[in-house]
Amino acid sequence: MGKRELTCDVAVLGGGPGGIPAALAAARHGASVILCERNGHLGGNAVMGLPLLGYLSQGGRQIVGGIAQEFVDDLMASGDSFGHERCPLHNSVTLVHPDRFRLLALKKCLEAGVRLLFHTEVTGAVVADGRLQKAVVTGKGEQVEISARVFIDATGDGDLAYIAGAQYEKGSAADHMMQPPTLMFSVTGFCKEELMSFLEAHPENMKQIDTVNVGEGYDTKLWRSTDSYVFVGMKAYLDEIRKKTDCPIFRENIIIINSTIPGKVFLNIVRVPDSDCSDIESLSEAEIKGQLQVEGIFRILREYFPGFGNAVLDSISPAIGVRETRRFRGIEKVTVDQALAGYKPENTIALAGYKIDIHSGRGEGTVLREIVEPYGIPLGSLISADLDGLLLSGRCISVDHETLGSMRVMPTCMAIGQGAGTLAACAARQGASPRVVDFREVVDTLFKDKAILK
Ligand SMILES: Cc1cc2nc3c(=O)[nH]c(=O)nc-3n(C[C@H](O)[C@H](O)[C@H](O)COP(=O)(O)OP(=O)(O)OC[C@H]3O[C@@H](n4cnc5c(N)ncnc54)[C@H](O)[C@@H]3O)c2cc1C
Repeated sequence: MGKRELTCDVAVLGGGPGGIPAALAAARHGASVILCERNGHLGGNAVMGLPLLGYLSQGGRQIVGGIAQEFVDDLMASGDSFGHERCPLHNSVTLVHPDRFRLLALKKCLEAGVRLLFHTEVTGAVVADGRLQKAVVTGKGEQVEISARVFIDATGDGDLAYIAGAQYEKGSAADHMMQPPTLMFSVTGFCKEELMSFLEAHPENMKQIDTVNVGEGYDTKLWRSTDSYVFVGMKAYLDEIRKKTDCPIFRENIIIINSTIPGKVFLNIVRVPDSDCSDIESLSEAEIKGQLQVEGIFRILREYFPGFGNAVLDSISPAIGVRETRRFRGIEKVTVDQALAGYKPENTIALAGYKIDIHSGRGEGTVLREIVEPYGIPLGSLISADLDGLLLSGRCISVDHETLGSMRVMPTCMAIGQGAGTLAACAARQGASPRVVDFREVVDTLFKDKAILK
């Protein structure tokens, strides 16, 4: 196998919501940055057609700013986002054109001078004296050894941290069950008006939202009034369909996500229970089952569901979306008690305020718990407790299972990424371990860069 060596200040592994702002923040603060991504493009889950949830708190206050807001500002300017819309169920919904998000991420990285290595997957790590010295990535039959002062693992699953031997946890404390993956797909030709009329005649289909009382306002009046909507419902109707026909829907309701593309909606309906997407055999099985579910679900939608009679299958996401796998041990860990109490330590580098939203890993059911007051993500939850020189970003940071259910949303992962990149640039500039960088320097820099931390 061919080998080559590269050197930089900060190496970012993974180019999704946790990785893009990490690379941008580090490069904008003077670090030389290499970003490795296994796909041929940036975006991670942000290019699957999902809404960006979590910019606003339950009370309607904006709690994510900085680079994450910069993306929305730019996408609004080009007509590719409707901005933030209040929602009684999701706190806020921010729709973005997925492909425009992807191109914007690319342009911003190039402008900041980030060196991009696409089609490279993390396959190795060199550790010496407790410090991560190199990340090894492989692409096209070649190994690239990257030496860096700081490594930021933003692979979602924490693949670099795992290979390097860092300690991690998976799933709930009780049974290690993880949230299920979902293969997103989209349709064109959806008729919103038909669904709205049906819901007004059968209002029970908008009220059965799992464990949370969504209160007033999550109804056809809202969905008629805006294009920025995410519809979750149809439980009663789905129960009736199941009596009539074989129904390959393994969740309790359906999620319809409108888009900035006229006539196109994204569907979050596939669910593959009992999966561990950090295990390659289980992940492959999830991909297969997910793909096989799409046709059956589409048939049910077309035959039975109001609004889908003339729908055309548009696109299937290239890969299944993974909600949960490994969470790594940091020098600090955010617990569900802290999250529910709205605890904001002085080394807060990002705020999180989305609901705890745990899709059942066994089949039907979703647990939702309100976060009334936003909580802080401390810098220490991004710093590996096991390996010096390693930072975590995105959904693999040091939190418990319940807290992951809340902080995993993309704007929060972007805010965490900006924190990780800012810390990495400080450490590289000082020639110091990220563990000894004064958190005040990171917090002050983030504040100047328009992050919202209080
Ligand atoms: C089905 C589903 C629905 C969701 N719904 C919402 C929602 O409505 N709103 C919301 O805000 N959030 C939602 N989320 C959560 C959110 O999408 C994720 O938690 C978030 O994207 C995590 O960001 P990340 O950067 O850590 O990981 P990812 O988005 O997964 O990005 C990781 C990146 O790393 C790359 N990568 C992975 N492994 C390697 C490797 N070994 N080497 C190199 N590159 C690698 C991947 O290709 C990817 O680009 C949903 C998630 C799923 C799966």
